[in-house]
Order: sequence, then structure tokens, then C-alpha cells
Amino acid sequence: MTRALQSYSQDRWHDGTGEFVRLADAATGEPVAEIPRTGPDAAAMLDYARTTGGPALRALTFTQRAAILKSLARYLSGHVAEFAVLSALTGATRRDTAVDVDGGIGTLAVYASKASRELPDARVLPDGPTEPLGKGGTFAGRHVRTPRLGAAVQVNAFNFPVWGMLEKFAPAFLGGMPSVVKPASQTAYLTELVVRRIIESGLLPEGSLSLLCAGPGGLLDSLVSQDTLSFTGSAVTALALRTHPAVAGRAIPFNAEADSLNCSVLGPDVTAGDPEFDLYVSQLVTEMTVKAGQKCTAIRRLIVPAALASAVSDAVSAALAGVMVGHPASPETMMGPLASLAQRDEVRAAVAKLAAAGRIAHGHPDTVEVHGADSRRGAFLSPILLSCDDSSAAAPHEVEAFGPVATVIAYDGIDEAVTLAARGDGSLAGSIVTRDAGVASRLVEGLAPWHGRLLILNRDDAAESTGHGTAMPQLLHGGPGRAGGGAELGGLRALDHYLQRTAIQAHPDILAALA
Ligand code: NAP
Repeated sequence: MTRALQSYSQDRWHDGTGEFVRLADAATGEPVAEIPRTGPDAAAMLDYARTTGGPALRALTFTQRAAILKSLARYLSGHVAEFAVLSALTGATRRDTAVDVDGGIGTLAVYASKASRELPDARVLPDGPTEPLGKGGTFAGRHVRTPRLGAAVQVNAFNFPVWGMLEKFAPAFLGGMPSVVKPASQTAYLTELVVRRIIESGLLPEGSLSLLCAGPGGLLDSLVSQDTLSFTGSAVTALALRTHPAVAGRAIPFNAEADSLNCSVLGPDVTAGDPEFDLYVSQLVTEMTVKAGQKCTAIRRLIVPAALASAVSDAVSAALAGVMVGHPASPETMMGPLASLAQRDEVRAAVAKLAAAGRIAHGHPDTVEVHGADSRRGAFLSPILLSCDDSSAAAPHEVEAFGPVATVIAYDGIDEAVTLAARGDGSLAGSIVTRDAGVASRLVEGLAPWHGRLLILNRDDAAESTGHGTAMPQLLHGGPGRAGGGAELGGLRALDHYLQRTAIQAHPDILAALA
């Protein structure tokens, strides 16, 4: 019998009730687990987090919380092999697992290390300098930040069942707020396993982590003004959460990381024989194939000089022809399946819209050669490169195919490249491939207002580049407009979401004593 996922609330594991949804192995279609539609009482889960987890965390200093995170990262590192087994069932190759599992644990470690170096061994965080407010020097002002008193609710997307949880949990924990995690149903079995190991580690204060492996139930209705809500997923769900009466009505701090049509611009200075040309092509192939393109930061639009459009298309097509699609557990596999058959249906529908605005240069939405697995049972899809010659077409800038899919779009001059990039209406990550500092400056100035992060790649930094799609814990992850308007990571700035900033006006001696 398939294992039913459980939720963790009030420091014990709970079975769900009502209807159960079967979750299948992405590569074989075999059942992996089932997830209930109804979980434990969400109001009780939140209340326990607020009344038990919150006080326990706030009793610790930033330094003490950082030490716990450090131990937790070390503990989880010892369980990577076990996590990798379940990760493969989501369709992840070992390379994909490195991004999600190892990357998630690495994010915990970076947060622990930054906090232990940069935050005080205190429970109140001074923020900025003391500002004199009176001529006599007896009255001044200063900001402090203190943990919000509620629960930090975190709703995650299916594509990063581990990283998605840990990159939110780490700053919430450091900020002194208990986390209530709702993973996406599709891959919740991996999140559940990681939470089991976290709980078993005995490292966390009671009530500081809860897990809802079920539908959201009354989770949002039960939010109060000291809670926070962080969301990763589609723009449609982000809008539903943002406008939920409890979230909007109680002014609950809300952060959204949604989808985006990320672009990569090839500079006009690059010619087909340059190392930058090859870097552009290989970066794209990596972005299309890691996690089978199911990365919110993956490149969807290739904005290239018109004179190079067919050379780029040919070079990318040739490289994609060498990508072996297959069972994620096989070491030869370069790209695994999508997370589910339903997800593949969605990508195929999006490809049909994109193809109507251009043409498919490589791949086929309905046929793919699969190695080590049955293409009829698993959610396999060939990498698909499209080309769009119609500069007025909307689809390449509006339709997100959340898979190994990208479109080549030609530009004529830097101004047009900027205009095309902006048509994505706000993105998480963009890249510019150029060795010309002047080109880089002009493109950064044009693209930055539309982006949360920009990578400038050329032969001089390629060897150390972390890549277009990799969100680094030290740097901002989030983007304007369609990308959700949120801000995660970015070093310790991520704690802002969990801390109330308060202006204190007092005698300077009192202000100094607060620090
Ligand atoms: P989704 O359908 O929007 O679901 C995201 C999460 O929201 C899931 O946990 C889902 O639960 C939950 N949810 C749905 N309706 C809800 C409601 N009414 N109340 C509370 N929770 C609700 O997105 P997805 O299909 O999992 O993820 C794919 C999308 O996420 C893509 O568009 C991708 O671009 C985006 N994404 C963005 C980022 C980023 O950092 N910006 C990262 C990864 C993915 P169930 O699964 O149980 O329905």
C-alpha cells in the first residue's frame, strides 16, 4: 500500500483525512505516496507555533540561533544520500538534486555563517545610526528590529521541495519566528522526509517548525497581524493569496516569488567565433536542461543580435541534440522528466502557444527518445528551442513554458534589446553576455529596473560564474512585476520580513543601552 504523507503540528505527526491524492514517480508513473486533501487543524498548528515556538526562539540570541542552524546544516548533510533517493522520484538527476538538496543545505550553512559573523549576540537588532533630534544632545532617535510575534507561514512550489523550504526557514529561524511550511503537493514526500530528519535531530526548539502536508484548509483564514506569509509559485496563486481577505485585511507582510520570462541578452559586440558566443550557447543549454527547465530563474527568452539569430539557433540546436534524456537515476542521463504528466501537459499547451507565434527550431513536444525508462509512462519531454521573427508577437514575452523550452528573439540595436527584455514585465534573473564594459553598462541601466538579479558573463569571469539560474544566498532573489515583487535571500536582508522595525526616541544613553 502507498504511504500516506503526514503533517507535523504541535510537536507530533498527524494523519490526514478525507480524499487522498496519489503522487507518482515522475519517470515511471509508479505510485510513490499519497497526500490527503485535509490536514490537521490549521488554526491549532498556527497557535502552537505562535505560543510555543515563538517564545522559545525569542529567548535565544541571534548568535545562538545561528549556532543551531550550523549544527542543523551539518546534520542534514549526513542524510543527503537518503534525500537523493526520493529526489530522483521527482524526476531530478543527481545534478538536479545537487541544486535542490545540497543547495538547500548549503543555504542553511551560509545563513548560519553570515549570522554568526554579522549579527550581535543579542535579541534586539539595532538598525542604523543614532540620529540627534535636539540641539542640547539629550534627545535622539534610532531604529531597532525585533521578531514579529506570530508564525511565518511558507507556501512553496513543487520544483524545489528542499531548497524552497530551507531558503525560507533559515532567515525566519534567525529572525526568531517559527515556520509553518506548506509544500506543494506534487513533491511533498521529499519535504516531509527532510522535516522528519530535522525533527529527529532534536536541534530545534519545540514548535519552531510545523509542516502541513495537505491542502491549505483554513491556513490563510487563521492568519493574524503578527504572522507573515511567504509564497513561491505561479502568478495566479500569488494573486489569490495577496488578495485573500485575511492577508489584505490584516496587512500581513506578504512576499511573493512568482514566475518570470527570464531573458539572456547576447551583446552586439559578440561574433560567432568569440568565446562569449560559446558561453552564451552552453549557459542556455544548462539552463534548459537542469531540472528539465523547471526553474523559476531559467532562461526563457534569448535576445540576440539579428545578424546572429540563426547562428545561435543552429548552435543551440546542435548542443541540444547531444542531451541524453532518460531515467534520472541513470548516471548517463543529462536531463530527467518533468515532475508529473500533468505538468508536461501544461508545458505542451504553452509550447503550442509559443509555436503559433514562431516556429520550433529543435525538438518536438510529442516525441522524445528516452534512455532507461518508458517515454509513455514518465513525464519526459524533449528540449524545445523556438524561434520568433515577429517582433510584435506577445507570446514569447507572456507565456511561461515551465520546462526545457526557450525562444530565440532577434534585436536590432541595444535600445531594442532593452525594449524586448522589458516586455517580460519583470523577471527574477537576467544575463548579459558581453566583454564590452560600455555595452554592459548600457544594458544594465536598461534592464536593472525590470530585474532582481543580472549576471554579466564573459571569458574573464566564466570559470567562477555561479550561472544564470542559481539564486545565491548572499544576493537578492526576487523580481518586480510579474516575478511577484518580492525579495528573498540577499544575505541578512532576508530577515527584514520577519522583524518589525521600530523607531525609538529617547535620551542617547537609553538608546545606547538598547543595542
Ligand atoms: P502553484 O500552483 O501556484 O502552487 C504553489 C503553492 O501554492 C503550492 O504549495 C500549492 O499547493 C499552493 N496553493 C495553491 N493554491 C493555494 C491556495 N488557495 N492557498 C494556499 N496555497 C495554495 O505553483 P507550482 O505549480 O507549485 O509552481 C510552479 C510555478 O512556480 C511556476 O510558474 C514557477 O515559475 C513558479 N516558481 C517561482 C519561483 C520563484 O522563486 N520565484 C520558484 C519556483 C517556482 P498545492 O500544490 O497543494 O496545490
